[in-house]
Amino acid sequence: MISKRKSIPSDIEGSNLTKDYENNLITEDDSEEKTETQLEDDHGFLNFGFNKSLLESLKKKGYKNPTPIQKAAIPELMLGRDLLGQAQTGTGKTAAFALPIIEKLEDNNEVAAKVLVMTPTRELATQVADSFKSYSSESRNFNTIAIYGGTDFRNQISCLKRKTDVVVGTPGRIIDHIKQGTFKINNISCLVLDEADEMLKMGFLEDIEWIIDKLPEEKQMVLFSATMPSEIKNIAKKYLNNPAEIKIKSIKKEAQLISQKFISIQRHYKLEALKRILEIKNEGVIIFVRTKSLTASIAEALETSGHSVAVLNGDIPQNQRENTVDRLRKGFIDILVATDVAARGLDVERIKLVINYDFPFDTETYTHRIGRTGRAGRSGEAILFVNRREKHFLRNLENSLKTKIEELEIPSNQSINEKRMDKLTKDININSISEKNEENKALMIDILDTLKVKYSMQDEEIAMAAINLIVGNKPFFIEEDESWINKQNIPDRDRFTRKGQNKSRGSNKKSTHNNSGFETFRFEYGKVNKIRIPNIISSICSSTNINGRAIGKIQVFNDFSLVDLPKNLNRDTINKLKNLKIKSY
Ligand code: AMP
Repeated sequence: MISKRKSIPSDIEGSNLTKDYENNLITEDDSEEKTETQLEDDHGFLNFGFNKSLLESLKKKGYKNPTPIQKAAIPELMLGRDLLGQAQTGTGKTAAFALPIIEKLEDNNEVAAKVLVMTPTRELATQVADSFKSYSSESRNFNTIAIYGGTDFRNQISCLKRKTDVVVGTPGRIIDHIKQGTFKINNISCLVLDEADEMLKMGFLEDIEWIIDKLPEEKQMVLFSATMPSEIKNIAKKYLNNPAEIKIKSIKKEAQLISQKFISIQRHYKLEALKRILEIKNEGVIIFVRTKSLTASIAEALETSGHSVAVLNGDIPQNQRENTVDRLRKGFIDILVATDVAARGLDVERIKLVINYDFPFDTETYTHRIGRTGRAGRSGEAILFVNRREKHFLRNLENSLKTKIEELEIPSNQSINEKRMDKLTKDININSISEKNEENKALMIDILDTLKVKYSMQDEEIAMAAINLIVGNKPFFIEEDESWINKQNIPDRDRFTRKGQNKSRGSNKKSTHNNSGFETFRFEYGKVNKIRIPNIISSICSSTNINGRAIGKIQVFNDFSLVDLPKNLNRDTINKLKNLKIKSY
């Protein structure tokens, strides 16, 4: 069905796309921002020659113009070319490969799947499968299924028995189904490897090769990766046939769309500060915390304050997690309290604010967290809670991201009260619009009459009594003590210079603070665990291949430690560090 044609593709729309056929390379220069007029000049998705139902579903999704990756990739894929794409999540890469696939399979009547998409995680598998489902929602009899570990195997088998167009899955579960003969792969004519670098980092190379070897020889291959290390290039060389190469350099642009702020806060005031922030903004918020138990206790505290909130952590079964994400997407809940693992790959348009309640483990974790907002050109906000001791980490973060993270004030009583007033008056005003209350109009007139006749109430008295009903018995304005807010701010001269700590190592090392060769890692071990600096060094050296000399500044605090380690450690080492057990002796 998806045929391989090696003709030179037609030119690509968009003035900031350059294309070099000699090298098969298509790149997007992110230094050129599009002007309003250029955007208006775009012809949306019409130029790709998509069928009506596909265009209809894109319209329903509200997609007006293709993103740069879509502009570059769709024409190539429609021609049946192999494709090597370097693009991060958030660029619209899923639609870039899903749309041509759906278009080509419009009239497919065969039972066995024609397309296989492999993803590193089950979260991404569900997300990609959901995208296929929504883009094909107007197509007749188009079926996508997701197969991944942690969910019912038998259910997947019965889905695979029915007519399937696209299978999206994680390597392990795909292999299980192939081995059991429950996933027939002899019909596959297109294979997509999504987030290939992540799959390699997770050690799936052998599995991927095993699967590719079992698939039919003649097939279109698409490989997407956020980075292009040599291992990925090798896979591309080995399996892809004269691929079109596309590179979207949009990391900076994406990050710029997220306004990043930090709040100076001492640990025991964090919850108070969080509640105050949520007074100002409480729809589409994700709060990242370090432990599963914290997700529960914070969610409980927020619920008590009247927020609609849910938790997302590793203890919650997969199907329930999916359900929670869906409820957030649909607006039944407004706030998620999550751990990093559980929120991996989360893509919900509604998320407008990411709160880093606990400091992230490393820069990558931070980038991933804040990337839950500001997706596909939309703007978003990220707030990072920083205590005095984490300031050094903050500076490191700014250095590696090459971004200044500005300080944000904790909302004062006055700003919260203004917000409450603003919300209440707006709500009342919205309800005065007649079509909104048309249904109850007769009832309302009846009530007004009764109040006027039976109780002799004036218009103003009635209005005031109604407002009183909304406000309730609790004081409307916040009058809590706010003197603690001013005590959180750390004077600038103190911001990044922590003097006299851990002299044994800290001051021996020459200005590691300014040394951009380091990244600071946070370990949840501190004085309460009777941890000392030598314990940290020996644990790191014995569990990873990091040499003791390569370790920079170490700071041990009461219940955590900050350690400077060389930048750009490989995935395997970072995973080992994440699971590091530091023992005192
Ligand atoms: P992805 O990079 O595939 O994870 O997509 C990121 C987000 O962009 C998703 O929420 C998509 O729904 C959205 N998206 C993809 N293509 C477009 C488009 N052409 N217009 C608007 N939103 C899009």
